[in-house]
Amino acid sequence: MTEITTNPFDTEDDAFHEECGVFGVWNAPDAAALTALGLHALQHRGQEASGIVSHGEKGFRSHKGLGLVGDIFGDARVIASLPGRAAVGHNRYATAGETALRNVQPLYADFAFGGLAVAHNGNLTNALALRRQLVRRGCLFQSSTDSEVFVHLIAISLYATVQDRLIDALKQVDGAYSLVALHDGAMMGVRDPNGVRPLVLGRLGADQNNAWVLASETCALDIVGAEFVRDVEPGEIVVIDDTGVRSVKPFANTANRFCIFEYIYFARPDSVVEGTPVYESRKRIGAELARESGVEADVIVPVPDSGVPAAMGYAQEAGIPFELGIIRNHYVGRTFIEPTDNIRHLGVKLKHSANRAAIEGKRIILVDDSIVRGTTSKKIVEMMRQAGAAEVHMRISSPPTTHSCFYGIDTPERDKLLASNHSVEEMARIIGADSLAFISLDGLYRALGRKGRDAKDPGYCDACFTGDYAIPLTDLVGHKEREPALLALNGV
Ligand code: SF4
Repeated sequence: MTEITTNPFDTEDDAFHEECGVFGVWNAPDAAALTALGLHALQHRGQEASGIVSHGEKGFRSHKGLGLVGDIFGDARVIASLPGRAAVGHNRYATAGETALRNVQPLYADFAFGGLAVAHNGNLTNALALRRQLVRRGCLFQSSTDSEVFVHLIAISLYATVQDRLIDALKQVDGAYSLVALHDGAMMGVRDPNGVRPLVLGRLGADQNNAWVLASETCALDIVGAEFVRDVEPGEIVVIDDTGVRSVKPFANTANRFCIFEYIYFARPDSVVEGTPVYESRKRIGAELARESGVEADVIVPVPDSGVPAAMGYAQEAGIPFELGIIRNHYVGRTFIEPTDNIRHLGVKLKHSANRAAIEGKRIILVDDSIVRGTTSKKIVEMMRQAGAAEVHMRISSPPTTHSCFYGIDTPERDKLLASNHSVEEMARIIGADSLAFISLDGLYRALGRKGRDAKDPGYCDACFTGDYAIPLTDLVGHKEREPALLALNGV
């Protein structure tokens, strides 16, 4: 889910952001409370806003808000206002532009067949083109999210059943989507044919009526005490109703393009993604990085929190002690106000502090998951030197990020990505490190159990490292006439 703007790629932030998490429960006595808990476990996938739509005897009820899940759903009265045995929920990360309540999901609409709530993780790459067509046909859009296209396509479909209308809509969209949808007769979970974003199916125990659960990640199953049943497959629709779970596969077989960055950074380390524990993969990536680009050093220091498992893997492989040389302040909210330009440059120190006792006089290897614009890496290297590090070597557990993501991850324009227009040596100079190395693309695939990257069928989406965009970028290409530079800028 992303907002539709004329330039959706602008951000001043120096990090990638997962844009959404989705969760749904069918037939549990505490459906809304369980959904709030599930969204809480998926908070890392979106921190700007959250919403839940429940369904029960009194019909659909909805509550949405801006902020963190705990702030929006922490009050028992809010949960009590969401009765029913089924609920779907959504966390969002807003791209540049408004964080308006009307964009907060799940989106809900009344159709001829009844109500339908939709929660979407991902990004549609032909949403602008479809939106223009739909507006010409008289559709009135209520939000600026690409996800609303689903609602209108379902509304104008000539098919009779909700399931067929949904399939009709899905066949018209391009892009990445993991969806959870709820109507009065069923809950449905969908992954796009390439399976870019994750979605898992789980089941609660007898105390919650053996209810079915859909979630972006297994960590959300764990928090509600649900057992992992299986991943929803790429191109699959799971239809959950009172008779059980049915699988519908309306698409032709397509190559799997699961987002490889989920393993590196996005997914929570305690989640199991596509059968592989994220924590283990990150450690293996760190070990591979150590084999590829070892350097003499006294300590390995992770950049918290996402660099920690890779740094552990690096340290174990290299036989160098692992030390917490950077301490993260967990109580810095995203809304912390930095009042003047003069102190804005101190920003990173609000989040991270050097642990002088662990690094003074030492040759250190800093391990981080990625370099986006490079501003954070520069500040962290500087911080290490100020705390007395003798040498600072930076090792990155992803290949250089040279391209923007159009499949649901908020990234800057290509020319703002440091690796898109600098060599590794230049980047090392810019961030002030004694040396810099990234894991190779083949090394990353080896760490995930492959022999290396098979260019014909990589099995993952790795477009932000390769520019190999497997799903058509219709809207971006559509910009060509109006904004010719945009296409070139993004290397498409
Ligand atoms: Fe993931 Fe990168 Fe592909 Fe986006 S472009 S889906 S971040 S691998």
